[in-house]
Amino acid sequence: MRILNNGRALRVVIVGAGIGGLTAAAALHQRGFEVSVYERAAQLGEVGAGLQVGPNAVKVIRALGLEAQFVKLAAEPQMRLSLKWDDGTIRAQEPYGDSMQERFGARYYMAHRADLHGLLRSLVAENTIHTGAECASVENLQQGAVVRLADGREVEADIVIGADGIHSVVRAALFGKGEARFTNQICWRIILPMQELHDAADKLPIRLTGNEYTGWLGPTGHVLFYPLRGGELLNIFAGRVSNEWADETWAVPSDIDEMLEAYAGWHPGMLHILSRAREAFKWGIHDRQPLEHWVAGRIALLGDAAHPMMPTLAQGGAISMEDGYAIARYLDEGRDNPVEALAAYERDRQPRGARMQLQARQQFLNNQLVPPPPPLPVDWIYGYDAVTSELRPLGAQTNVAPT
Ligand SMILES: Cc1cc2nc3c(=O)[nH]c(=O)nc-3n(C[C@H](O)[C@H](O)[C@H](O)COP(=O)(O)OP(=O)(O)OC[C@H]3O[C@@H](n4cnc5c(N)ncnc54)[C@H](O)[C@@H]3O)c2cc1C
Repeated sequence: MRILNNGRALRVVIVGAGIGGLTAAAALHQRGFEVSVYERAAQLGEVGAGLQVGPNAVKVIRALGLEAQFVKLAAEPQMRLSLKWDDGTIRAQEPYGDSMQERFGARYYMAHRADLHGLLRSLVAENTIHTGAECASVENLQQGAVVRLADGREVEADIVIGADGIHSVVRAALFGKGEARFTNQICWRIILPMQELHDAADKLPIRLTGNEYTGWLGPTGHVLFYPLRGGELLNIFAGRVSNEWADETWAVPSDIDEMLEAYAGWHPGMLHILSRAREAFKWGIHDRQPLEHWVAGRIALLGDAAHPMMPTLAQGGAISMEDGYAIARYLDEGRDNPVEALAAYERDRQPRGARMQLQARQQFLNNQLVPPPPPLPVDWIYGYDAVTSELRPLGAQTNVAPT
């Protein structure tokens, strides 16, 4: 247990048990902090979709001691293929596998979101996660901070972390509500059993071995295929440029025919795979402008609450895990001065989060150019190590943010 100079443990309350919040909880727990998590949903869980887990996130998973279990649940693509949307010719290919390890110090995996979420949760004591607990507001106090729940309960803590996603209540309480921005991208997400797709192989210009990460890129969208669970499942992300649908709804059930119509004229083999979907959910992709401050006093943001971004770089979850690990390191370093620790966390992390938000937007725009230019550099993303990166000095500057 992390003991303060006054003899008691530092209490950290986390709002939101998503990938970012649970990473923070696990990393803080590892360092002996007293952590509790308040989650709005009645049951813990994740959406049924795949997640690309870049090398920067794998380094966090390793530091949490979960790598061996994670690798058993995930799939590792050996090759990324970029195909032309209409005739399926190869635009570019890039080795993944060992090459990722050599270049960035960790491999690139694909995982079912629920599997990663389950592993993170296994590191956090069950009785410290409170479900059905919706945060309505937060406030800094003279000595600490308070989380007010929608059911009227109040939870006091030394530190509060807002890990409550793109529509963060914590963010709204600190920095004002502001609407999220519809990005002109919608997407469908589907998971199919790989063994049901063998007969589709002769219709495709590529083999479906369970080892490839394939992207079909066209001016009106891009469609990604990648394996999950050692190649047992195929995950599909079908993104589409659209001016029509600016609904704030997070995910709505969608008609398969509507999805197929959106890709009329695309490669028949790709459409054949899409037509196998039994159900699909449609997402309206939203993001926000980079936020100048992520911290006010004893309350800090992480993950999508701080920097919601387009999924074009497949990094929102990865950087949320980086944030979760980093905030635990800073609080450990500044255990007797958590306000300075959080200010240093912001100085360290905000520029990286903002840069990623903007690059994700730019990559989305570049993907629509004909022909699309080469992808924007990702070395600075994958090569980063939130576990070993040098911490910013505490107390070098103070952040001036409203509370
Ligand atoms: C289509 C799509 C594809 C993506 N693909 C990838 C990918 O391949 N790789 C990748 O790294 N990222 C990807 N992302 C991004 C990734 O999903 C997010 O960045 C990530 O989930 C953010 O995690 P988080 O924990 O910050 O927030 P969330 O996952 O949104 O979790 C927030 C949690 O807080 C809870 N909550 C919300 N409000 C309250 C409240 N008031 N009180 C209490 N609890 C509350 C929620 O119920 C939820 O459990 C993708 C995103 C989209 C939309």
